[in-house]
Amino acid sequence: MKRSLAESCCPEGESTGKKKRKFEGTSHYCAAMNCHNSRKGNRDETFFRFPTKEPLRCSKWVQNVRRQDLQGQPLDKLKNLILCSSHFEDIMFRDPGKTRLMWNAYPTLFQVRIG
Ligand SMILES: [Zn+2]
Repeated sequence: MKRSLAESCCPEGESTGKKKRKFEGTSHYCAAMNCHNSRKGNRDETFFRFPTKEPLRCSKWVQNVRRQDLQGQPLDKLKNLILCSSHFEDIMFRDPGKTRLMWNAYPTLFQVRIG
């Protein structure tokens, strides 16, 4: 006996033009200077949002990123920014897969020439 798949699977309203935007408003690119990692291009890389719920730590991120244009930006704007895992030392992660940061982690590894 054959059962047609069509009768069991019938989503409501089909496609009503709704687009699922997982990271609405959030940048897809790493906010660090000289870093071109993106969510789309670097699937192995993990990305982290700026910790805007902790203003102090967040300002440390901004400081370390050294982007003049980010200094003094409202948290509302910073929350859309992400950094890739390559800017964090191994000890800043809670797991070997580098998917979770320590509660007090901040980025220290940047390709910025000093002097
Ligand atoms: Zn990066």
